[in-house]
Amino acid sequence: MTAYNGTKLPVINIIGTFNPDAKMHVLLMSHWDSRPFADNDPDPTKRKLPVLGANDGASGVGILLELARLCNEKLPQVGIDIFLTDAEDYGAPDDWEGTHDEKWWALGTQMWCKQAAKEGYRAEYGILLDMVGSANASFYREYYSERFANSFVNEIWQTAARLGYGDLFINQSGGGVTDDHVFVNRMLHIPCVDIIDTRTDSEGTFCPQWHTTSDTMENISRETLGKVGRVLVSLLW
Ligand SMILES: [Zn+2]
Repeated sequence: MTAYNGTKLPVINIIGTFNPDAKMHVLLMSHWDSRPFADNDPDPTKRKLPVLGANDGASGVGILLELARLCNEKLPQVGIDIFLTDAEDYGAPDDWEGTHDEKWWALGTQMWCKQAAKEGYRAEYGILLDMVGSANASFYREYYSERFANSFVNEIWQTAARLGYGDLFINQSGGGVTDDHVFVNRMLHIPCVDIIDTRTDSEGTFCPQWHTTSDTMENISRETLGKVGRVLVSLLW
């Protein structure tokens, strides 16, 4: 895929399936790349350094790998397609003087969606995990998820409430985020929900470590990861 600045990126998506012959499949997604530049770092001298992505990337991947381990122990009745997507976070940096367009984000997902559409890939619905590991996380009902997949948003947020996680999964509409799920919704017409940490119900307000050099393991909470994982287990098994 070609990046915003003309760089040719060797995009590597990783896809694994449990229960391939099941009638109904659920698509679970997370991006495994991390942003190559920390353009939101408070220290301007660090803005060309890479983001390590403990939260913005690895947190979602970690939960999906744990679900894969659980699938090995006991298969759920549905087919589970785990899609670790590449080059999600390669959008133009803040100081880029060329065009800023949503098409420069989620490159791996866009590449896969084209191929999947050709092959007639179907899933009942999809769930994208992005930034699901912060101690002070809050998951509002993301705007595009409500627009394209509202009944599944209801199901996920009700499941969380039933498990006692209503303070984490806040049952209020949030802002819209350009993320992998937008392309799955638009290009494959598979309803796809983004579980993403935003700090208010308005747009573009992420955790303080977002796109900085501080997106590291010290800021990861096992408790948050566990709660998100248990919501998915409850839904899928
Ligand atoms: Zn990011």
